[in-house]
Amino acid sequence: MKYFLAIIGGGPAGYTAAEKASKAGKDVILFEQTALGGTCLNVGCIPTKSLLYGAKQFYNATHAQKYGVTAENVAFDFAAMQKRKTIVVRKLVAGIKARLNNEHCTVVNGFATVLSPSESEANGLYSFSEQGERSYFVECNGETYEAENLLICTGSTNFVPPIPGIKDNPAVWDSTDALAATELPESIIIVGGGVIGMEFATLYHELGVPVTVIEAMPTILPNLDPEVVQILLDKYRKAGINILTSTKVESIEGNNVTISGASSPTSSTSSTSLTSDKILVSVGRRANLQGLEALNDLELNRGAIVVDDFMKTNLPNVYACGDVTGKIMLAHVASRQAEVAVGRMLKQIPLQRIAYNAIPSVVYTNPEIASVGITEQQAESMSIPFEVRKLPMTFSGRFMAENEGETGLCKMVVDAKNKSILGVHCIGNPCSEFIAAASFAVRNGYTIPEMEQVVFPHPTVSEILHEIIA
Ligand code: NAD
Repeated sequence: MKYFLAIIGGGPAGYTAAEKASKAGKDVILFEQTALGGTCLNVGCIPTKSLLYGAKQFYNATHAQKYGVTAENVAFDFAAMQKRKTIVVRKLVAGIKARLNNEHCTVVNGFATVLSPSESEANGLYSFSEQGERSYFVECNGETYEAENLLICTGSTNFVPPIPGIKDNPAVWDSTDALAATELPESIIIVGGGVIGMEFATLYHELGVPVTVIEAMPTILPNLDPEVVQILLDKYRKAGINILTSTKVESIEGNNVTISGASSPTSSTSSTSLTSDKILVSVGRRANLQGLEALNDLELNRGAIVVDDFMKTNLPNVYACGDVTGKIMLAHVASRQAEVAVGRMLKQIPLQRIAYNAIPSVVYTNPEIASVGITEQQAESMSIPFEVRKLPMTFSGRFMAENEGETGLCKMVVDAKNKSILGVHCIGNPCSEFIAAASFAVRNGYTIPEMEQVVFPHPTVSEILHEIIA
């Protein structure tokens, strides 16, 4: 049988593409070496959010005095939190399996390898039929499968930096190890103050584990609005998280981390050593290209697959979506890329590109950070004339009612000429839940006068988006 589409990787990109193409009546085969759902569902977004929610419940219970509530003998059971996390993941993975089943998509569990034309031809399999139709051949579990189109959704894995002493060190964790741990570490050093680093810093801090964050750049979360990040930095440092910026890890030996250039409000040192029970390394992720070696003409840029606006690679009928393209490593980007890729394969009219200018992103710290569009620094570097509107979140009644002692911030970057909204950057709970409204505005190029006509429900924190332009 010849499939219309062979998909390698069953994460948000792969399963979204599989569902969409199958729904359109096409024969689809999807290969997944571990579990459907990919990093996001199994060892990323969902397990972290499940654990973070448990930690937040504990933290809120022990910090409820400011709301007039005193709770005594509050305790948590980390094993029970882990068990709940596993159940949440299992249910969601089962849901994806059922959806693909319903659409009659073939799912093969195993590591898939793309065969080269010469390998295929040696087995009597030809890249072109007599009618000139192209075929790709994929080998998995000893079987060979044929498809007209190939979609690579192989994702990414944690990057291991070349720091002496990091490899095969049982004290060193990556995020997957941290999520699997049955016990909390007694203390933790987190190398990398990016999204993964700061979310784990939040989890461990809220559960009472002493946390040190080591960030190479002058600030944590270096890609976000600096004013927003500063609010988090101030709060976390005040709460006792040791955050060292502009700091380099020289080496790791057992539980000892040698750092240089450490800078924090309380310390400044050229070279020193820190010790902790575990060391979590979260310094970015790299595209997975294993199994694709036969596609030796596939164009790569800095180790990621180059794609056009419709997720096509430089090879005919070969598409790529998600982290493997190295564009923006977010699950919702991956699934949108998959919709666009399948739309292109199905020749749907009009062909739709991805609005990369309006991709929302959330960091699940406490308070949460949510943003969409460009920051004022990016507007400046792009020479876009802009103005900034900003308000503390306390201008929202609901925020005041539910966020005692917090100020939060909402910033809007506006085109100075036509008044269109270019970016929105917030810190304050629960901004993750209303950043989508800002995404609509940025995606559709809403102007301030247009946004003024949108009615926001009262009392909600989302009203800040109205207050800011009032
Ligand atoms: P990241 O790129 O967000 O952060 C890595 C951080 O490590 C950066 O701040 C970088 O300056 C720092 N760094 C790099 N090398 C270092 C070194 N040797 N010593 C100290 N610091 C160093 O990467 P991540 O946090 O690993 O996350 C990986 C990807 O997963 C990102 O694309 C992220 O957006 C995504 N992710 C998203 C979410 C979410 O949407 N909530 C959650 C987790 C991960």
